Amino acid sequence: MAESRSQPTVAIVGGGLAGLAAACALSDSGFRVTLFERRPFLGGRASSYEHPGTGEVVDNCQHVLFGSCTNLIAFYRTIGILDKIRWFDRMTFVEPGGRQSVLQPTFLPAPLHVTPSFLGFKFLSAWDKIVLGKALAVLMTSSSKDDGRSFQDWLVQYGQTAAAIERFWKPILVSALSEDLDQIAIPYAAQVVRESMKAREARRMGIPSVPLTNLYDAAQEYVTSRGGSVRFRNGVQSVAPSERDISFRVQGSEEEFDYGIAAVPFDSLAKLLPDLPEASDLKRKLAIFKTSPITGVHLWFDRKISALPHAILLDRTIQWMFHKSVLLDRSGSGTAEKGMTSVEPRIDPKTQARATASVGTPSYVELVISSSKCLIDKSRQEIIDLALRELREFFPGARDANLVKATVIKEVNATFSPVPGIDRYRPTNATPWPRLFLAGDWTATGWPATMEGAVRSGYLAAEAVARQAGNPKVFLVPDLHGTGFMRLFG
Ligand SMILES: Cc1cc2nc3c(=O)[nH]c(=O)nc-3n(C[C@H](O)[C@H](O)[C@H](O)COP(=O)(O)OP(=O)(O)OC[C@H]3O[C@@H](n4cnc5c(N)ncnc54)[C@H](O)[C@@H]3O)c2cc1C
Repeated sequence: MAESRSQPTVAIVGGGLAGLAAACALSDSGFRVTLFERRPFLGGRASSYEHPGTGEVVDNCQHVLFGSCTNLIAFYRTIGILDKIRWFDRMTFVEPGGRQSVLQPTFLPAPLHVTPSFLGFKFLSAWDKIVLGKALAVLMTSSSKDDGRSFQDWLVQYGQTAAAIERFWKPILVSALSEDLDQIAIPYAAQVVRESMKAREARRMGIPSVPLTNLYDAAQEYVTSRGGSVRFRNGVQSVAPSERDISFRVQGSEEEFDYGIAAVPFDSLAKLLPDLPEASDLKRKLAIFKTSPITGVHLWFDRKISALPHAILLDRTIQWMFHKSVLLDRSGSGTAEKGMTSVEPRIDPKTQARATASVGTPSYVELVISSSKCLIDKSRQEIIDLALRELREFFPGARDANLVKATVIKEVNATFSPVPGIDRYRPTNATPWPRLFLAGDWTATGWPATMEGAVRSGYLAAEAVARQAGNPKVFLVPDLHGTGFMRLFG
């Protein structure tokens, strides 16, 4: 089939970041792309929608990126949306009671550029900082192997204090990897440390200034303006790969393409694969993956509760505060999504009336809890009550503020767990069939479940398709180079 066409055809299943990156790369390289997405919008697990109860456009959860996410940044640049990302050099840690400590870079060479602010952390003792410094030096300068132990075991081996674990390692790693420390393989933790310390720009945090789904309109336009098509509400039911082409069952009919990329989560892939002996090894690997939840609590107040754009919150259930009304430029809209759960809190009508009558700038805040296993069985109202109680401990301004409306979004299967040993089961892009390739944050990218990992997987799959079509291309962009002393370690 491929041989008889002047323009090879490729079907991409899944309009998350992996599928979009592959679609844009291939539509720019002479392929006719058809992207199938079962939802009515793009972005997958990084999307937004109009919440029916609140009437507000909300992200399924706040998504952040870092300067080390070179492929994601390249992708945003390619589709022309990099200017929609706002960058922050400062991170504020807040303790219950409101005391703040700031992490920010200085003129010193990496990795010493953050040392002055690290030494100034009020929430750690001198001894905590000494043991932390030693552990950070080991992680930054030596390569780490997955020896089957968890990062929690490693921290004990390296004499980390309870405060260092609770107030440094947990806030940094549980939010980066969305898992508990005793479920994280050592190399994943080491990678987070190394990637964030290798250069000053590596740990700059990027936050979209528009709802997530608005970012991807540009990707759709990119594909369609190059002759491709994006088909919403087109769930692919099954795939039938052969040596010469590949056929997908969509909306009850078979559609044939020269190449195919399945850019879907691992559990969705398991349902698509044919019932053939060649598929059994891949299916066995897919069955080993486990997921971890992330919960977002969206709160609208009648006034500002803090001047900070975002903050890391210590010692409580809620982990991050994002001041959305400061971060967003308030444009755009989305569509409701079935798999996401949300609920309105009971708000006393008197409170509502007081809120409407009060003077001040209303504000919208999102609180994020990664690896939120302790919230799974809690009711939405319980989660809102807990979040509000804790928020008031951190920000005195929240004590007088009236809650106008609220919602909770639980993503139960947010990300795959980076448990010890999992790398053995993360498949490459290749499948037993020469015309079918895989993408997705869970494939073997060397990165944890992140938008960067997803884009990398999309580019790797697109490279594999181009190679198979006899027209090799390079889409993956290099990692950020180490600067300062980090040049010595790659
Ligand atoms: C709550 C939450 C918070 C997160 N926070 C961050 C963060 O701050 N920073 C970060 O970098 N990462 C974060 N992540 C992780 C990040 O969102 C993911 O790693 C990334 O978006 C995964 O992209 P993907 O394309 O691999 O998969 P997905 O986004 O899951 O995309 C797969 C797509 O395939 C579609 N699909 C599935 N089956 C079919 C089918 N049969 N036919 C057609 N379409 C199908 C789905 O609808 C979906 O659109 C977070 C994830 C969650 C859930």
